[in-house]
Amino acid sequence: MTKEEFKQRFTRRLAEKYAMEVKDASANELYQTLGSIMTAAYAEKWQQTWQDYRNQKQKQVYYFSIEFLPGRMLKSNLLNMGWLDTVEEGLAELGIKLEELVKMEPDMALGNGGLGRLASCFMDSIASTALPGNGNGIRYEYGLFKQRFIDGYQVELPDEWLNKGNLWEVRKESKAVNIRFGGNVYLKEDETGELEPVYEGGDIVRAVPYDTGMVGYENDTVNTMRLWSAEIPAEEEDKYRNIDDRRKIENLTSVLYPDDSNEAGRKLRLSQEYFFVSAGIQSIIRHYQKLNEPFEKINQFVGIHINDTHPAMCVAEFMRILVDEEKMPWEKAWDVTVKVMSYTNHTIMAEALEKWPTWMLKDVCPRILQIIEEIDRRFVQEMTGVHPFDLIERTRIIQGDQVHMANLSIIGSHSTNGVAKLHSDLLKAVVLHDFYILYPDRFNNKTNGIAERRWGQLANRQMTKVVDQAIGTSWHKNPEDMRWLMNYQTDQQVLDGLADAKHQNKVRLAEYIEATTGVVVSPAAIFDVQIKRLHAYKRQLLNLMHILKLYFDLKENPALDIHPRVFIFGAKAAPSYHYAKSVIKVINETANMINRDPAINDKLKIVFLENYNVSLAEIIIPAADVSEQISLASKEASGTSNMKLMLNGAVTIATLDGANIEIRDAVGDDNIAIFGLTEEEVYRYYDEQNYVASDVYNSDPVLKKVVDAFVDGSIPNIYSEGQEIYDSLLKYNDEFFVLRDFKAYCIAQHAIDTAYKDRQRWKKISLINTANAGRFSADYTVKKYADDIWQIEPVFAHVTERGAQHGTYLL
Ligand SMILES: *Cc1c(COP(=O)(O)O)cnc(C)c1O
Repeated sequence: MTKEEFKQRFTRRLAEKYAMEVKDASANELYQTLGSIMTAAYAEKWQQTWQDYRNQKQKQVYYFSIEFLPGRMLKSNLLNMGWLDTVEEGLAELGIKLEELVKMEPDMALGNGGLGRLASCFMDSIASTALPGNGNGIRYEYGLFKQRFIDGYQVELPDEWLNKGNLWEVRKESKAVNIRFGGNVYLKEDETGELEPVYEGGDIVRAVPYDTGMVGYENDTVNTMRLWSAEIPAEEEDKYRNIDDRRKIENLTSVLYPDDSNEAGRKLRLSQEYFFVSAGIQSIIRHYQKLNEPFEKINQFVGIHINDTHPAMCVAEFMRILVDEEKMPWEKAWDVTVKVMSYTNHTIMAEALEKWPTWMLKDVCPRILQIIEEIDRRFVQEMTGVHPFDLIERTRIIQGDQVHMANLSIIGSHSTNGVAKLHSDLLKAVVLHDFYILYPDRFNNKTNGIAERRWGQLANRQMTKVVDQAIGTSWHKNPEDMRWLMNYQTDQQVLDGLADAKHQNKVRLAEYIEATTGVVVSPAAIFDVQIKRLHAYKRQLLNLMHILKLYFDLKENPALDIHPRVFIFGAKAAPSYHYAKSVIKVINETANMINRDPAINDKLKIVFLENYNVSLAEIIIPAADVSEQISLASKEASGTSNMKLMLNGAVTIATLDGANIEIRDAVGDDNIAIFGLTEEEVYRYYDEQNYVASDVYNSDPVLKKVVDAFVDGSIPNIYSEGQEIYDSLLKYNDEFFVLRDFKAYCIAQHAIDTAYKDRQRWKKISLINTANAGRFSADYTVKKYADDIWQIEPVFAHVTERGAQHGTYLL
């Protein structure tokens, strides 16, 4: 499509859709017009991709995730369609700024943080590497809450993202399925003597899919992300005369639980899990039936991935359909189920390992409970005499009256992976060690990755221009080619070009900061960034304590020679997570205190930006100089903001946790600031139970002064919040070793300051970080999943000649 063709198409479409000319149209009307041209343009490829998979009976994988966090799709789709420059220039000639249309799109925020964002990065990379893979999830009517600060406190507002419609989704009425909830179920012999479930009572909910095309990068592949919405079935309308009863059904897909670690919302949450699991599995089975292949072979055509334990009931639902509906003998059904399923573990935090009371499963999905009980019974039977009794008791699925979802996921699948080397090692050695004894071959590592086109090419077009000029554009398709940048470590033009790009991005962020918070910051300062969910283990508190130390140092010695720094935070706290909200309040009040203190002379600023989400991340990350990855070693399974920030040339200050270790290995010790306890040291403290936080506090007067500031009135406007933090550190013995790591962190921060002052050295370190980020592309991650776990291959049949010339095939 040429620019002229686009302009014609655009003005014609605007006239057809709104009977308008450009000059009369609102930004939203222009956005809708552009979007409708795009969806029309890829629709044929979407259909073609699907037909090819079907005609070739291609094995497809279905990625089940209770969260997806795609952010905005407009620019990403334009880029992947190969239209970005043409459209941007064409619009400009019509007097329209593309960026103004971009802002019309609400963030699709159907996830909390890293877990959902990973699922969306995978969707992009799966399509971009021409792999036959699709997403399966929930179309929440309200996305993750909108965060506002009032008096420094987090306030949650509803995210009504569907208000103006969603132009990327297609409602597929004809693909709806019914889900059965509640009631009673018992087994009865049918006329042939086989057992058959008989259902009494309960409710039927209609699951209607909304499909969104996942457009691959210049390769003619369009996969599907299928999100389900709950409705009242037409045949049951009479039953739901009462408004409250109707709401009960519709509420099923109304809110995303704003917490990715605790079992919030309990029964409704469990119902959501069964809802999207059953809908997804039923639609997979219905499709499979059209292939005319026996169910014994379904694993050759279908892979189902369980992203964290929320979709763990996939195992039981798949068994239910094979055994109850397809009348397969249990053993055969089990054999094939295990081959179809695979599972990713995302956390070692004990409180995040999902468990459900058996009574609740009985209430929500009684047949599923029966099947889980049978799986559990057979598991115990199979292992008895082979393994010690206590080992079996610890690994079985039902323990007391609790159903352990991770146990179900591991026992019911052929692969369990962690998300970074350290995390996968810890699973084998500690957290899932018992299972590792039972199934050593099932365990593997797949280090997370990121959609580098979104986080690099799109979010940082200034940097991209410089990189393209230096090393060409092959890294757009083969991200590891970014390593050719290593040849430019002493090339002044490239170093200055990258530094200039960073400066422009900082100017843009500074403008955003002033516009949204009123705080004026200088782009000449170090932009030090910590952006992630607010959690005690991520230790935003440690960052705050170092800031307080700098503040006290400056108060004592205003001439202190530190490079001016702006500390930038972005984080939502789960609404029920009291402690995390206290940390937000104290950061905000510390910000007020420091930002307004004339004695600080702009050497220190704190900015806590509201409503951290993908679109805000896309503004912050390209402008970051320093990336804060300071979780307690062993607690952050992988992290992905560490990868996004590295790609954008930020220098990491980090503990040896999650993927930070692999980032250190990629850039070398000289190009990252590592500090703090190692995982071994943390576990030694656990084993010996000899950490005494108050000893650390009492032996370090600098630390003591900082900790006391939470309770001695130094920080104005905080009340019980300061006491709560103080108590977490001293009364409750500092669960995340903040006090223990404080000194090492301050030393590492000092090293950052020193390095930044040497501008030439910093530019080189920054370049080395970008140059080595390619290996963290999710393109490679999904390729490894495809080869090692899913056994799926790229499909090229639908690829046109143009696609073949441009394709990202990574073979
Ligand atoms: C990448 C990303 C995350 C994950 O950040 P971590 O620091 O790895 O926890 C969370 N939220 C958003 C919006 C992201 O883009």
